[in-house]
Amino acid sequence: MTNQHLYINGSWQQGEGYERDLINPATAETIMKIKEASQEQVATAVDAARSAFEQSDWATHPEKRVTSLRKLADLLERDEKSFAVAETENTGKPIREATLDIGDSVACLRYYANLIAERETATIEMEDGTTSRIIDEPIGVCALIVPWNFPLLLGMWKIAPALAAGNTVVFKPSELTPVTAIKLADLIHQCGFPPGVFNLVPGGGDPVGETLVAHPEVDKVSFTGGSETGKHINQQCAKDLKRVSLELGGKSPLIILEDADLESAVEWTIFGGFFNQGEVCVASSRILVHESLYEAFIDKLVHESSRIKIGDPTQMETGMGPLVSRNHLQKVKSYINLGKEEGASVHYGGKQPDKGFYQSPVIFTNVHQSMRIVQEEIFGPVITVQSFRDQNEAVRLANGTKYGLAAGVLSKNVSQAVQVASQLKAGTIWINSYHTPYVEAPWGGYKESGIGRELGPHGLASFTEVKHVNTSQQLQKAGWYTH
Ligand code: NAD
Repeated sequence: MTNQHLYINGSWQQGEGYERDLINPATAETIMKIKEASQEQVATAVDAARSAFEQSDWATHPEKRVTSLRKLADLLERDEKSFAVAETENTGKPIREATLDIGDSVACLRYYANLIAERETATIEMEDGTTSRIIDEPIGVCALIVPWNFPLLLGMWKIAPALAAGNTVVFKPSELTPVTAIKLADLIHQCGFPPGVFNLVPGGGDPVGETLVAHPEVDKVSFTGGSETGKHINQQCAKDLKRVSLELGGKSPLIILEDADLESAVEWTIFGGFFNQGEVCVASSRILVHESLYEAFIDKLVHESSRIKIGDPTQMETGMGPLVSRNHLQKVKSYINLGKEEGASVHYGGKQPDKGFYQSPVIFTNVHQSMRIVQEEIFGPVITVQSFRDQNEAVRLANGTKYGLAAGVLSKNVSQAVQVASQLKAGTIWINSYHTPYVEAPWGGYKESGIGRELGPHGLASFTEVKHVNTSQQLQKAGWYTH
């Protein structure tokens, strides 16, 4: 991999900003040093994106974009293994999960290339004899900012639709996990995208993210991250009415109805709550179980959680790796202490390795809706379990936080589950399943979980301006003030 980490206007540059050690969370050892972008370099990247938008044929030649994105998908698929290894080393996520992320990133590129290849301009014949064409145009220069939990995949959910729509981009990965973004820029270089179409500026929220969001030549900000950061970015964008999309935090419930199969319910609880160490925006961190199942459910859940293989994330059989950083581990541990102080009972899952930033699964019982461990996003392998008496109480508890990203319902009675889903305030609801994002279907949040949707046609629409051109075939007199 290159030892220059900024990709601006089609060439690699040495960063002139902060120098940061990237740490492998499984070993706590440094994997590489990175020189991040300076504020001036961020401005240069935005200028390059502006020139490419206005002067290259990227925005105006969809067939060129389709070919470029398909080529990029092929190269990424070819290099799947090395990307997965890099993602695991940088984030600590188990290698089989990292491999899924890269496959999903390839699928995302192909989906948006196909969507553009098939896109048609809508035409409406009006009653007055005029014709209206509804044209989707690119917005311009898009700033794309993502967190560390799915570094390449969440980046691709923005990069693929933004580029497919004809925009140019400046991409800022999390300062903790820029490695696969640098590898991606290398593939983009190999594909021969026009200089300035894709630019990469690694660095922290302040100054790199702040500078990018504030830059007057940025037309759209698409952000994924915490709700507090999202609110701040929303305020920054409001100053000059920049377009903004926000994919933010969650505290998602998994509702287990009375007739659910106990064994499956425990499996989905473990998958929903502990997949990717619980560092997932849609993690089902609040389990709501019918009171008739509660005791048996807890016994089985605690037992099964102890069977999760926690350890070296590079091994295929590993089910849970370390958390992403020492700081994040401390944050999660402080929530575990808080839960105990709030009076909840704590159960621990399997044994964790001594070295690295590991946290074994934690299950809190005896919890109340008002506790902070029920209301706040912990973003680690920590779940709370509450019981409910009837459907109304389940829905009230499920909707009873400021978030509304996702939810799950488990039941043999699918029509009852569908009815529960209709009462939930959440952007994605899985019935008898959990977690799978489908590239064809929208993803995003109600309430403080965000504004806008990614994936599917909605994801493409979030990177377009809509223009209505109404045409009359003949130039006649307007015939208004002369009446
Ligand atoms: P974060 O908000 O701290 O950072 C996210 C990104 O924003 C990083 O790249 C960071 O450098 C950047 N950033 C921070 N401050 C900034 C600022 N002032 N201006 C511009 N950029 C800034 O979040 P995190 O800790 O990296 O990620 C965890 C959060 O992300 C969780 O809340 C999680 O729920 C959320 N998330 C949401 C989704 C979703 O699809 N809704 C997906 C994944 C993660």
